[in-house]
Amino acid sequence: MASGNAIRGSRVGAGPMGEAERGESAPRSRISFWCANKHETRPSFAAEAVIPDTWDCPRCGFPAGQDEHNPPAPSRNEPYKTHLAYVRERRTDADGEAILAEALAKLRGEI
Ligand SMILES: [Zn+2]
Repeated sequence: MASGNAIRGSRVGAGPMGEAERGESAPRSRISFWCANKHETRPSFAAEAVIPDTWDCPRCGFPAGQDEHNPPAPSRNEPYKTHLAYVRERRTDADGEAILAEALAKLRGEI
């Protein structure tokens, strides 16, 4: 029988265990928050702590909420233009030029 690939350890994703040093006895729980960019952050809270509705995403700064599928909307203070907005603006400019050109042509009696 071929062998040699014995599974050596079976560590099941153990986290850092350095928390007992301060002699904390209060149990802590980790709460998952998701931001609009689907970043998950899991701050830990003391059992008696009040869990906030939102948590600032450490990666992008957006507010994160506990509902993964319905994260809080990003701050409205940040002006953000979509690509579509740019395209629309450009098209409006082009339309404006076309209309202007047509008007000029009419003035010159070219139409
Ligand atoms: Zn984020």
